[in-house]
Amino acid sequence: MPPVFRFAPSPNGLLHLGHAYSALLNFDRARETGGRLLLRIEDIDATRCRPEYEAAIYEDLAWLGIAWETPVRRQSEHLSDYRAALERLSELGLVYPAFESRAEIARLVTAREADGPWPRDPDGAPLYPGDAKSVSSGERARLIASGAPYALRLDMAAACRRVDGLSWNELGEGPDGERDTVPARPEAWGDVILARKETPTSYHLSVVVDDALQGVSEIVRGQDLFHATSVHRLLQVLLGLPEPAYRHHALIRDEEGRKLSKSSRSTGLRELRSAGITPAGVRQLVGLG
Ligand code: GLU
Repeated sequence: MPPVFRFAPSPNGLLHLGHAYSALLNFDRARETGGRLLLRIEDIDATRCRPEYEAAIYEDLAWLGIAWETPVRRQSEHLSDYRAALERLSELGLVYPAFESRAEIARLVTAREADGPWPRDPDGAPLYPGDAKSVSSGERARLIASGAPYALRLDMAAACRRVDGLSWNELGEGPDGERDTVPARPEAWGDVILARKETPTSYHLSVVVDDALQGVSEIVRGQDLFHATSVHRLLQVLLGLPEPAYRHHALIRDEEGRKLSKSSRSTGLRELRSAGITPAGVRQLVGLG
């Protein structure tokens, strides 16, 4: 079976040099290996994703000379797949509703920090500080019936008890030079959000479900997602999904060494193109010339 690659942008802004690098690496790997390249539109965040950004993704990738298979998978059209996976995790007793608002969570973290630093996840966000896990089922039912908003969280301690010796095969490199067999540490993320009242999924859940459903065998993506792989591996094992290989690549940075963002104008593909840079010039800028 030919290897399967994917580029999975979110249509919440215009693509920049960092996206171009990731997309070109995927495209080149697919070509070198006689593999297939899929494009997935990660548009579950309805408040931030827009059709015009999706259209711009197709146009910019085509301009770069990248070809992908159709039909493109758009996550917003597959909510029932994510709901089914969430249901499986719930049946395992690994999911619970948490009703705190963001402001309440921030207050809880401040209160906990009175006794010393509260742990942060690999992205620097405080771990979930609440105790919704111990709320009685009657009280949960009452709160849900009252229409209160909630997040569905993974009971990380219980999930980790179900797996042993979790790791992944790293073909690229992590931010600290990690390679080959990398031990997964999902507990570093605490009780991550898997879904919300109004959205039956999250980044972690949908990426894992989609990579499996689409038969992706080698995931080529930026090192900013390296640590998230620990959560992805855990969900793959819990859901009985196949294990892909991972190839994390270094991030393209601006002159000050910052990670590029969708608002950093000077490195936007549109801006480079109107400044007369060619697709070959983009390859050179990202070191793939
Ligand atoms: N949609 C994610 C992003 O735009 C990428 C997801 C992935 O490659 O796993 O950052």
